[in-house]
Amino acid sequence: MKKLLFAITASSCLTLSNDALSVETPFAIAIHGGAGTIEKARFTPEQEQLYRDKLSEAVETGYKVLELGGESLDAVTAAIEVLEQSPYFNAGRGAVYTYEGSHELDASIMDGRNRQAGAVAGVKHIESPINLARLVMENSVHVMLSGQGAEEFAKEQGVTLIENNLFDTPHRYEALIKAKQKLDKAKAASKAYQAAHKALPNNYKMGTVGAVALDKNGNLAAGTSTGGMTAKRYGRVGDAPVIGAGTFAENESCAVSATGHGEYFIRYNVASDICARVKYQGKTIADAGNDVINGVLKPIGGTGGVIIIDTKGNISLPFNTSGMYRASKSNTQATYVGIFNDE
Ligand code: ASP
Repeated sequence: MKKLLFAITASSCLTLSNDALSVETPFAIAIHGGAGTIEKARFTPEQEQLYRDKLSEAVETGYKVLELGGESLDAVTAAIEVLEQSPYFNAGRGAVYTYEGSHELDASIMDGRNRQAGAVAGVKHIESPINLARLVMENSVHVMLSGQGAEEFAKEQGVTLIENNLFDTPHRYEALIKAKQKLDKAKAASKAYQAAHKALPNNYKMGTVGAVALDKNGNLAAGTSTGGMTAKRYGRVGDAPVIGAGTFAENESCAVSATGHGEYFIRYNVASDICARVKYQGKTIADAGNDVINGVLKPIGGTGGVIIIDTKGNISLPFNTSGMYRASKSNTQATYVGIFNDE
């Protein structure tokens, strides 16, 4: 009898695990290329297509890594690298200018398995800040390195430093000139720099790239990379390299990458607040993301958005601006690319 029971149990286990095997393990990726005043009227059809193609290339690049069984960290890094190489997005090659006319880049990455994290802030000669953030996570005992020190670490890691002017682009320069004109006007009217900067339209303050991914082993990762805000000054650092603000990942809840007015995202600890709502209040990522982006940030003027993913492969892309460059793909969802808020 005992033997028979064992046989039944063993065979039902076998049936169960066969069933489990027949359902494909979820894997998914989402990316963003910044949120802000992004209106259809500002684009020619050709320009719009260029953005859509680049977003699609980035999400497909990350997806391929996952499809082949690669890690979520590798998918996030690969997708972000594509966007860092593009002059259209405010990260790497397309980074905005500081008030002084140079470029200072911030980035961070987090591993949902163990909450390991790496970040760099205010680096000037690093072609791929997301890669350096990853090196900080994997090869240093620290979480965040900044400025010159981060670049010394990069050299020790074999990273080639590049000239800062390789990040120059005419369209970002034009944005700097316009931002400075507005700031100087405010100065002439004896308004403080801070107040004047706060009053700059959102399109001077926004743009960042990021990715979140779930791999076939059920591990989440998140990463964010940015040039920060046009005409930023005094070594300003935004939310992108701040773990918990611009980037967060833990397998028990979700992975988040943010874009928007960084000061608000730091003060409201946006990325980790979303995951905390999932973890402690049992909310879906869609509800938690909406609570924070529209419920908490919007009423206080905190503009921007996030991309969120959970271990079931659910994806949510909430934002409270007129647009957010975004794309996603999963083993059950075809490639989605969006820019404006009505698509
Ligand atoms: N969050 C970035 C920053 O404040 C900018 C952005 O995402 O648009 O530096």
